[in-house]
Amino acid sequence: AAKKQGGDQLSLYSLTLDEAAQNAANMRLLLETGLKNNQLVLYYQPIVNSFGGVSGVESLLRIRDPDRGLLGPSAFWAGLDHHRYARDVGIFVMDAAFRQGQIWQQQGLALRVSINISAHHLLDARFLDDLERALRKYPGLPAEQIEIEITESAPLNDLLHAQERLAACNDLGVRVALDDFGTGNASLTYLQQLPAQSVKLDQSFVRDMINDPKDLAIVAAVITASRMLGLDVIAEGVETEAHAKLLAKMGCGHLQGYLFAKPMPGEDIPLWLQQFKNLNLSVLSHSSIDI
Ligand code: C2E
Ligand code: MG
Ligand code: MG
Ligand code: MG
Repeated sequence: AAKKQGGDQLSLYSLTLDEAAQNAANMRLLLETGLKNNQLVLYYQPIVNSFGGVSGVESLLRIRDPDRGLLGPSAFWAGLDHHRYARDVGIFVMDAAFRQGQIWQQQGLALRVSINISAHHLLDARFLDDLERALRKYPGLPAEQIEIEITESAPLNDLLHAQERLAACNDLGVRVALDDFGTGNASLTYLQQLPAQSVKLDQSFVRDMINDPKDLAIVAAVITASRMLGLDVIAEGVETEAHAKLLAKMGCGHLQGYLFAKPMPGEDIPLWLQQFKNLNLSVLSHSSIDI
């Protein structure tokens, strides 16, 4: 019986491993096919400031799958973070986002555009060439209105390398944001050592801060530390008025989340901006007076 049990456990275990590997392979294939067949699209989510204005938009990658419809990164996560695709994705994102940014610019909408860049691409020797080429292609979008979002996934031994790259981005005028801040285990090191202009407070802290005093403490600490270092703070995952109010009260300058808008196609942004201007965001204006 023991032998049988062991045998079962073994096959169950390897089945799980198999499934995980298969799953990752499918995700990579989805991204590879999407790249090859021009199925990648960017959606854009507005970022607002705590005075009721608009700070910019973040581009978020989607794949238009002929069978399954529009798919978000959870469907191709393993591909996004794979060295084989990171650069191709990054090049697509730069081109699509800067083109859209230039169109808004021509429409009189001076929007800041944030793009997510994988650490694999950032640390690729061709990264700065890729960035400069895209900047040259869309001269109507000033580099100062572009922000690159980097998550804390870059290994520590590459910190020096990342530091150099990001400083070079700054030299071009491009801003740097530390994404998903607080989830990695080297947060404060990154905050101190990477040349960044913004910190994006991870949505997990924002979501739980109302009920969990520990999450609230982390949110408050990140806001305070960032402000002392002269960095903008952007809270992600703001879903309720209670969240927005509390964040604004604590001095968080910028907010992003479903409360304001879900990610949408670029051509929908002008109409959203129009509607947002006509909203009376009492949540935000009252709390900013309170500070
Ligand atoms: P992220 O950069 O932290 O982006 C924020 C994610 O939170 C987005 O998920 C967005 O749709 C979602 N979100 C925004 N507001 C709310 C809210 O109020 N509630 C909740 N529950 N979620 C909200 P999305 O679009 O699924 O993207 C997931 C992640 O995939 C991104 O996290 C980013 O790490 C990665 N990603 C997205 N686009 C790209 C890309 O172009 N390149 C790379 N390398 N990674 C990307
Ligand atoms: Mg991001
Ligand atoms: Mg994030
Ligand atoms: Mg995230």
